[in-house]
Formats: sequence, C-alpha cells, structure tokens
Amino acid sequence: MRHNTAIIELKDITKSFGENTILKNLNLSISDGEFVTLLGPSGCGKTTILRLIAGFEQPDEGSILLAGSDITDLPSNKRHVNTVFQSYALFPHMTVFENVAFGLTMDKMSKTEIRTHVDEVLRMVKMSEYADRKPSQLSGGQQQRVAIARAVVKKPRILLLDEPLSALDFKLRKQMQVELKQLQRRLGITFIFVTHDQEEALSMSDRVIVMDEGVIQQSGTPKQVYEQPANLFVARFVGEINILGTVVEKHTDNGFACKIEGFSCEIHTKKRPSEGARINILLRPEDLRVEELAKAEKPEAGSIFGRVEETTYKGATLESIIALPSGKKLLASEFFDEEYEEFDYKLGQDVAVSWVDGWEVVLVDE
Ligand code: ATP
Repeated sequence: MRHNTAIIELKDITKSFGENTILKNLNLSISDGEFVTLLGPSGCGKTTILRLIAGFEQPDEGSILLAGSDITDLPSNKRHVNTVFQSYALFPHMTVFENVAFGLTMDKMSKTEIRTHVDEVLRMVKMSEYADRKPSQLSGGQQQRVAIARAVVKKPRILLLDEPLSALDFKLRKQMQVELKQLQRRLGITFIFVTHDQEEALSMSDRVIVMDEGVIQQSGTPKQVYEQPANLFVARFVGEINILGTVVEKHTDNGFACKIEGFSCEIHTKKRPSEGARINILLRPEDLRVEELAKAEKPEAGSIFGRVEETTYKGATLESIIALPSGKKLLASEFFDEEYEEFDYKLGQDVAVSWVDGWEVVLVDE
C-alpha cells in the first residue's frame, strides 16, 4: 500500500571516516511502501546510508527520523528495520525453517504462531518445499530467498537490501529482480535497495536515487533519470549516451538552429537556451537513425555525416559505432523490423545520422 507519508527521513546528514567526508549535508526522504534504489559507483556512500538507517553507524551531524520519530540515537535492534546482505549469512547448522524462525524464537513467540508466520513467508518466496533442507543443500538463488524470508518474517517497516543479487548468475539475477519487485508489492514494506548496476535499478524501482561522491545527483522515476538526466554524470552513468556539444545559433519555431560537426541542424525542443549558449545535446543510441549514403552523396539537411566503424548483431537490434568527421564516435541502436529487413551496414560505409523526429532532445549546460 502506497502512502505519501515519509517512513524514513535523513536530515542534513554528515558522515566522515577519519579525514574522509563520505556524506555531506545529505537530505533524503522515502515514502511508506516505496521501492527506492540507491545507484552509484563503488565508494559513493550507498552502503554508508544503509548502515546509518540500520543503526550500524552514527552520523556526525544530522538526524534520522522513522515515521516522524527521531531514531538517531536508537540502537539498531529497536528500529523496525532489517537488512539483507550480499552474503546471505544463513546459519549453516539450521534448516531453512529454523533459519527463518530464528528471530521469532528469540522473541519467545508460541510454536503455533511461529509455524504460521514462517509457512507464510516461505510460501511467498517459493521455498515451502525446502523447509527441512540445510543451506548447503540449496542453490545460491534459493539461499537468497531464505535470507529474504528471514528478513521479512518479523514484518519490519523497512527492508534494506545491499546488493543482494550480485552473487547470482545473469539469468537467476533477472528472475530474482522480478520476484523481489512482486514480493515488495505484496508485502507493502518499504524497500531500500543498493546497487551499482543501472539496469537493475531501472527495472526494479519506483524511484532511483543516483549518487556520486556522497552527493545525490538526481532522484526520480526510472523513466525520468533515463530520459531526463539532470546532468552529465547521470546521463553517462545510467545507460549508454551520445553527447554532442554545440552552440545555440538562433531560435526557430520548434527549437533552435546550431551546427554539429560543421553540419547545420535544427534541434527540436521546448526549451529555449539563449542564443550563443554552449550546450550538450544528449541522445540515447535508440534515438539515432542511420541511413546509408551512396558514394559521394551528402547527407540531407538536418543529418550529419558519419562512417560505420563497427556493427554488432544483438538479436533484436543492430548496434553500430559511427565515426564522425572529427573522430568522435556515436553509438546507434536500431530495431530490426519489416521495413529494415535488408538493414545490414557494411563496415566503412558512409551514412547520414539523424535523430528520431519529434524526440524532445535533452540539453545540459556545459
Ligand atoms: P560499494 O558499491 O563499493 O559497496 P558504496 O557506495 O556502498 O560502495 P560505501 O561502502 O558507503 O560505498 O563507502 C564509501 C566510502 O567510505 C568508501 O571510500 C569507503 O572506503 C569508506 N568507508 C566505508 N566504511 C568505512 C569504515 N568503517 N572506515 C573507513 N572508511 C570507510
């Protein structure tokens, strides 16, 4: 169930280790029931944020609120927050059932109640039939399911997941991404998930928070961070991107005119950067259109000239690297369809590159 009330708020958090300031005046608010992913390169402070929320670390400055109450000084076992780590950390001598029941046994819950709760979560993670096995008799994916069941059985308000899928192989990882998303929806528990894998972040989350060096660069839906990156860091970190620098020459009815690689182009955009402004045009590979040119043929107005340097067959798409006159390279990715049946560029082929008509290009100030 989604509520707009904040379940967790980090207010002006600063955290240093020795001389190194990892987080500086960080502010973050997460709504009840949200699936939020912290995405960023290694060392940017993602795990530190989880550890602060869990109560394994104390901030140097700032406060942490859970459902409006200050928990900054509350010990970790009183926080209604649980964590799933990359290493599953199951107890090897206990069965799956005992592993999941452990926390409830410690709370002195009755045997019947324990059975009801454990059975319910094992069913949710599709592990009921493995209840009597030991962790060593399970695959990596199954062990991770048990770790998740153990973490949610006490119905925490928030589940923190620190790269929980990174030890799994590609296929299993994809499958677990879908299962985790569905589980989160069913449970209604707030999930805060850490990953440095942008595809994983985009495919699972209600909201992605992109970080670099302890600073939030953008917070938005997967669609927003992919289609409207706030800056060049986000544009480069989330997916593949082509960045073309240019100067705004003059405004037109639909956008503005400029030169790219010496070719006159009109950029369609609702934004109106001032004439003379230096800007970056951001184009995803799938926004580019590549058309073959006959020998010595010039590209039509609005297209730029390039030469095919590499092509890669990707099943549903053809990816090509196009070298521009300046030596700059563009990555284009086009879907095969009926129309493009013949579509098979030759290496060294001259091409005209344009971008999908009507596409609102993304501009970022230089
Ligand atoms: P990764 O994806 O590699 O796990 P991360 O974004 O989760 O990276 P953190 O683990 O939060 O990054 O670490 C941020 C920085 O803080 C790193 O430079 C790390 O070396 C440092 N750091 C983390 N914990 C400690 C600690 N206990 N003592 C000293 N430095 C630490």
